[in-house]
Amino acid sequence: MEITHFTTNDSQTIGVVELDESGLETIDNEVPENKPKRRKHATCTEWQRNITKEKRMRGRELFRIFQKGKTGYDSITKPKKDRCDVCCGYETKNVTEEVYKKHIEKKKAARLEKEADKKLAIDGKITVLTVDLQSMKVCPKVQASAVYYKTKLCCYNFTVYNLATHEVTCYWWHECEGELQASNFASCLVDYIQEKVPKTIPLVIFSDGCTAQNRNSIMANALLDLAMKENIVITQKIFEKGPYPNGV
Ligand SMILES: [Zn+2]
Repeated sequence: MEITHFTTNDSQTIGVVELDESGLETIDNEVPENKPKRRKHATCTEWQRNITKEKRMRGRELFRIFQKGKTGYDSITKPKKDRCDVCCGYETKNVTEEVYKKHIEKKKAARLEKEADKKLAIDGKITVLTVDLQSMKVCPKVQASAVYYKTKLCCYNFTVYNLATHEVTCYWWHECEGELQASNFASCLVDYIQEKVPKTIPLVIFSDGCTAQNRNSIMANALLDLAMKENIVITQKIFEKGPYPNGV
């Protein structure tokens, strides 16, 4: 037997679906005689405790809609995952099989490269960093409707992660301090390398191929300048487009 929970948010269960072994659910049309009335102002916990047959049926109804749609969904809420243009394009038949296969091969190669470098880092032969920018955050983070139409302060979080030591450093700034320019990312990375990276072993930096952040002459020049000053070897490795195996 399999039980699927439908949730609207973390604390509210809106229905439970029970499946028999064949995977098909059956509806019991019987109405219970002493069916408890739904209390108007019942608290969330009370409401959850009284999951009656009626409510279960409502859950089944919902489930059937999803089954009928044959969307391939296992549940109503599907974890949000970044999809790259090539993968999406292939699904909608806008990208040829050949291009897609090459793309998958490159992705596999990137993953293997990262695994190999991680092993070297654990052995202490090189330092491996992965860097990425979190999606923009707004301040204040308030749900109240009064704040909805107000202009909020945009905040950025550039994260640097050391694959071997699992140490994370977050660089936070807001729009008044700096925009999303290449020089800002270069400043963060140079600061991190100067502060936290041992200068005796080579350094490898993994990042996505975002031009504004990582794949530009400003970043390359900043790293080159630092490499010459500190006398270390810095290699920048750019992931193939897609949901990045960044680990940041
Ligand atoms: Zn892809």
